Amino acid sequence: DTRHEIAGERTARDAYWMPFTANRQFKDNPRLLVGAEGMHYTTADGRSILDGQAGLWCVNAGHGREPIIEAVQRQIAEMDFAPSFNMGHPLPFEFANRLVALSPGDLDHVFFTNSGSESVDTALKIALAYHRVRGEGHRMRLIGREKGYHGVNFGGTSVGGLVNNRKYFGLLLGGVDHLSHTLDIGRNAFTCGLPEHGAELADELERLVALHGDTIAAVIVEPVAGSAGVILPPKGYLQRLREICDAHGILLIFDEVITGFGRLGAPFAAQYFDVLPDIMTTAKGLTNGSIPMGAVFVRRHVYDAFMQGAEANIELFHGYTYSGHPVAAAAGLATLDVYAEEGLLTRGAELADYWAEKLHALRDLPYVRDIRNLGLIGGIDLEPRPGEAGRRGYELHCACFEKGALVRYTGDIVAMSPPLIVTREQIDELVDILAQGLRELR
Ligand code: PMP
Repeated sequence: DTRHEIAGERTARDAYWMPFTANRQFKDNPRLLVGAEGMHYTTADGRSILDGQAGLWCVNAGHGREPIIEAVQRQIAEMDFAPSFNMGHPLPFEFANRLVALSPGDLDHVFFTNSGSESVDTALKIALAYHRVRGEGHRMRLIGREKGYHGVNFGGTSVGGLVNNRKYFGLLLGGVDHLSHTLDIGRNAFTCGLPEHGAELADELERLVALHGDTIAAVIVEPVAGSAGVILPPKGYLQRLREICDAHGILLIFDEVITGFGRLGAPFAAQYFDVLPDIMTTAKGLTNGSIPMGAVFVRRHVYDAFMQGAEANIELFHGYTYSGHPVAAAAGLATLDVYAEEGLLTRGAELADYWAEKLHALRDLPYVRDIRNLGLIGGIDLEPRPGEAGRRGYELHCACFEKGALVRYTGDIVAMSPPLIVTREQIDELVDILAQGLRELR
């Protein structure tokens, strides 16, 4: 196909500044994906690749789903865009209603964005403004976690805890502290499911309260940290954070950009862990990765604080041209239909034991120093090669791709999150490929 040939030729040039400046790596190993269906991608040279990472933790219902394609085509033909500020198309209203029927507790209002990063910055602004409208403007501090990833906008970069993501940007938000991360391979290696040790780390929040008094506005955490390499919360950790937030009037934000929409075997991690945040950020699986969109869920008390204010229109002066985009909302509604018809939001619970058993069978292979799993998420932590940290993760990712499976790597951790339509046979195939790749590592 000439289109792909031209694309191939053009990849030799630099017009496209790839995300995370991956241009050099791409040139060393140029891989183009040109088609996708169900559980598989097709490469430009015609190979079929088993998708072990749901695109990028987003294509939860698998690729090329007809109802989503049709809904998008229908909507874009009927009406491409509606101004979003004080009028709109009916679809985002309908979509918000459908979403809150899935969300736990009284997380029953939804603010639409276009990405996970925007959802995070929206959530942080809501949290700060919430305290202001309630006359508690002294609450300005934000708390994140080491190794947290909350996207790349300024708020998310500031509360994020991956130092490499922060260090080039100088002026980030002030008044941010980071709780320790909870990854402790020494105490928790090869735990199946939630780690036994580490819930006491939540008490660091008490110590920050002792230090900063009533100036803390919100704490943001990923229930399961994905981008830093599948870091699971120790048993009781999230519950403890909730208790401390309640005791001190601090808002708790769950960043569910990865965990939302079925990844753990429940619609949201909040349900899986039975911990209700005040604000919940989502994106990715919201539209099955098809049309960019994010959604921020807030609890009733948060929404009401704004609606009761004297200046309800300006107290949250925030919104995007594309908030509630009708084409994205159409994609999202069709996505929810597919999830519901196929029971995908709880399918991870049915497959979790099988997934765990297969993954943990890799534990004696070379360089494996930890295996982590929950629902349909998994991570293999490799011993770094001396002097070449991160190299083994990349090599395992490349070896798997050569053998026909796509898995994500982050440093020396390889992360898996297959679409929720995955079969047991496809789990076997994915784990077999990982095993072959591991045996070849040096
Ligand atoms: N939060 C979390 C937890 C994420 O995993 C990501 C993306 N991986 C983001 C935010 C940012 O989302 P996006 O890339 O859509 O901006």
